[in-house]
Amino acid sequence: HLQDTTTLHNGVKMPWFGLGVFKVPDGDTVVQSVKAAIINGYRSIDTAAVYGNEEGVGQGIKEALDETGLSRGDLFITSKVWNDDFGYESTLAAFETSLQKLGLDYLDLYLVHWPVEGKYIDTWRALETLYKEGKIKAIGVSNFNIHHLESLLKHAEIKPMVNQVEYHPRLTQKELHEFCKEHGIQLEAWAPLMQGGLFDHPTLQEIATNHQKSVAQVILRWDLQNGVITIPKSTKEKRMIENASIFDFELSENEMKQIDALNENHRVGPDPDNFD
Ligand code: NAD
Repeated sequence: HLQDTTTLHNGVKMPWFGLGVFKVPDGDTVVQSVKAAIINGYRSIDTAAVYGNEEGVGQGIKEALDETGLSRGDLFITSKVWNDDFGYESTLAAFETSLQKLGLDYLDLYLVHWPVEGKYIDTWRALETLYKEGKIKAIGVSNFNIHHLESLLKHAEIKPMVNQVEYHPRLTQKELHEFCKEHGIQLEAWAPLMQGGLFDHPTLQEIATNHQKSVAQVILRWDLQNGVITIPKSTKEKRMIENASIFDFELSENEMKQIDALNENHRVGPDPDNFD
């Protein structure tokens, strides 16, 4: 079911599926996208300070709640602290700015956007403070490799609940996923559709035809069956509905293996070990 959740290690429930809004312009486009998603059953929205669209996301949430009669508690809203704001005090301030732009009084999930060397530990301490104050229901990281997590875990009082990383059939992150599982850290996929670069793949097309589904649906279903949260981006209502229609079919073990085998450790985004 579209609103199914996974339980994070602190007991908070997070939807398996949501909408990403990277590169969706602030203003009407993001307002209408967020609104359309929620009206069509989405409950989770993934934004970030650096996307520059938190105000529009907030407006979309407000309009969707008015229109659907849902309440804030029915939604799961994620944002991220950007690299320029890293450090203890500046992260606390950046969080307040995000909250204000979103027009919310708490976040469901707040992430350290990138593992900026020498800075992410202090940033993490700020997230721990905000979490303890009840201003964030769950805290996590993004783009952390195993060595970043190991170093964070040495200093952290609270273990991250989520690690959001680039993840798609060409970048299956097997070791990182195993490490996260061992530590109770939920993996979340960004660029699950490889930003549009996988739709012509013959293996994926064949599997899609077998199930009378689209390639997008096959990839997103593969995420779920691998136990990975997924947040595909679209601004088009038709595609949002398509992307969410993945709870009525199942990939076979063999099909899962075929898709896993497409891995080439290929990134479309920056490498977390070398992104400056
Ligand atoms: P994505 O893999 O979700 O691909 C989005 C692209 O695919 C868009 O161009 C869209 O038009 C197209 N698309 C979507 N559904 C389609 C369909 N059914 N048929 C055909 N085309 C379709 O890429 P993304 O937006 O980079 O990633 C998803 C989300 O992950 C982002 O919006 C953002 O919220 C998050 N993200 C996080 C980070 C990070 O550093 N933490 C980085 C990038 C993205």
